[in-house]
Amino acid sequence: MIRFHNLSELQQWTASLPSNRAVGFVPTMGALHEGHASLVARAVKENDEVLASIFVNPTQFQELVDLDRYPRTLEQDCEVLERLGATAVYLPTENDMYPRGFQTRIEPGEGAEWFEGEKRPGHFTGMLTVVLKLFQQTRARRSYFGEKDAQQLFLVRRMVEDLDLNVEVLSCATIREPDGLAMSSRNARLSETERFESASLWRALSAAKSAFDRGERRASVLEQAMHDVLKATAVEVEYASVIDDLTFRPPEPTLDEHEHEQCLRAILAVRLGAARLIDNLLLGHA
Ligand code: AMP
Repeated sequence: MIRFHNLSELQQWTASLPSNRAVGFVPTMGALHEGHASLVARAVKENDEVLASIFVNPTQFQELVDLDRYPRTLEQDCEVLERLGATAVYLPTENDMYPRGFQTRIEPGEGAEWFEGEKRPGHFTGMLTVVLKLFQQTRARRSYFGEKDAQQLFLVRRMVEDLDLNVEVLSCATIREPDGLAMSSRNARLSETERFESASLWRALSAAKSAFDRGERRASVLEQAMHDVLKATAVEVEYASVIDDLTFRPPEPTLDEHEHEQCLRAILAVRLGAARLIDNLLLGHA
């Protein structure tokens, strides 16, 4: 597997690639786990070449301690990528992303107003700006994102559509531990008891899904089902909500039959010890 240590090494490679080679791109912040691996494995199946990137993007962190504490496991990550069959990994420098004088940023729309956008001001501006730069720098035509970060995926899709970007966005299912906890680089921060408690996120999402499958469609009742599970645990709930997957906003009562059909998703964010965890589950059409 080739390592590109900066933008110019990457650009030499992209310039030398025959135009008919399909390149699949998987952006990451490293500390790779099976969730990331599933994206890379799928990209390997669907493309001639697979390019992953590892860049811990400072502009999408709100707290310096979170950025400092973010795990960095480069050698291990490269072994994982190589084993999965990736062609190359791009390791941009901070200067490749934010050279002197840098000042232009992406401003997300209403889909970023709530939830992660509200709890982490500036997070999505930082994320979208870096994703757009990565799309431009890699000239990717196909990119892979995890459903685990549902609001991120929603906003990346919006940006691609709104700005006429020539890149296909493919979403991949969330990979979970046997007890349902979504894999995340931040799970390493959980103590043994917190790790045990963390399974309650999946139990809460499953409770909302069971209620939905029994015919419940009222967001407030579905949300209560999640809160009922979580209140019996040590997690501190930031939000446990139901959204319309087409707008990433709370569902609105349908005004007329021409209104789009709503598709509900349960989403939650909690704090547990030193970790902040997010997860979500698609419920279905309302
Ligand atoms: P990150 O390194 O956290 O920025 O994540 C890189 C990509 O991996 C993003 O598209 C995430 O949504 C995706 N991802 C993270 N965790 C998981 C998971 N448990 N299952 C599937 N995809 C994931």
